Amino acid sequence: AKMEGRGTWRFFEPAMDASLQRRRAIELDLREAMSKDEFSLFYQPLYDLHLDRICGFEALLRWHHPKRGLVPPDQFIPIAEEIGLIGPLGEWVLHRACEQAVGWPSEMKLAVNVSAVQFRDPDFIDVVVNALEASKLSPRRLELEITESVFLANSNETLATLHKLKAQGLRIALDDFGTGYSSLSYLRSFPFDKLKIDKSFVRDATATHGSKSIVRAVISLGRSLGMTTIAEGIETVEQLDHMRAEGCNEAQGFLFSHPVPVTEVAAKILELRNG
Ligand code: C2E
Ligand code: CA
Ligand code: CA
Ligand code: CA
Repeated sequence: AKMEGRGTWRFFEPAMDASLQRRRAIELDLREAMSKDEFSLFYQPLYDLHLDRICGFEALLRWHHPKRGLVPPDQFIPIAEEIGLIGPLGEWVLHRACEQAVGWPSEMKLAVNVSAVQFRDPDFIDVVVNALEASKLSPRRLELEITESVFLANSNETLATLHKLKAQGLRIALDDFGTGYSSLSYLRSFPFDKLKIDKSFVRDATATHGSKSIVRAVISLGRSLGMTTIAEGIETVEQLDHMRAEGCNEAQGFLFSHPVPVTEVAAKILELRNG
């Protein structure tokens, strides 16, 4: 039995307790994972549909747990956010990604995911500036991917942060576009550089009429607002042809490449340089 917050007793069956125990265990391990050097970054190619060649990589965080093996980010990033670890973890990601990308050909951009919790930290802009200065990566090569959830908080502060970041010369992409809950008004208030069409729409765009219309609308919305569009989760040639025909600027997905360790980045650049 466990004593719970409001003074009520709860009895857990061993089976019911398992997921909670797993979560507690992950939480404890997560606190030590950084000092134990258990994180790494994988990189997935971004492909320019107009130039027909690779144009950069998205950094994707990986946790190599000594016993559990590879833990996917969806399973530990929400925990890191809750227990206050996303700040240091996100800082590590930015520094490491910039350090690694600075050696790539200069036309390769670097996309880095930023959690809404990390974004709201008053130190966030300094963290970005420090990572750029320490690595000597040109801000023009950096693209931060944020989600609509940053707009759930104070939108004036959010807009101010976005403007300060853009003043550094980097670009901002809106990730998972179309899956959020907010209205479209923030698109008018803030000049994003890029809209990233969520893979759920990409997956259905060649099958269902609804998704097809949404994809078309997002691309045209982006174009009329001066934003580029990228389709994520491209797995088939059919999906690729469709996005190309719709006028999408960039694409990303297993069809081109799975995320790869940094040691395979150079080979991916050679492989996807043309066609
Ligand atoms: P996301 O930013 O939407 O990243 C795209 C996810 O889709 C990645 O999963 C990627 O491996 C996967 N993906 C790529 N191509 C395909 C495809 O063709 N088909 C399918 N089905 N999936 C594809 P991953 O690496 O497991 O990351 C999951 C999420 O974790 C990311 O979603 C992002 O929200 C978060 N994440 C990853 N790295 C970081 C990080 O460094 N910081 C933060 N804050 N979040 C991160
Ligand atoms: Ca992303
Ligand atoms: Ca996404
Ligand atoms: Ca996602």
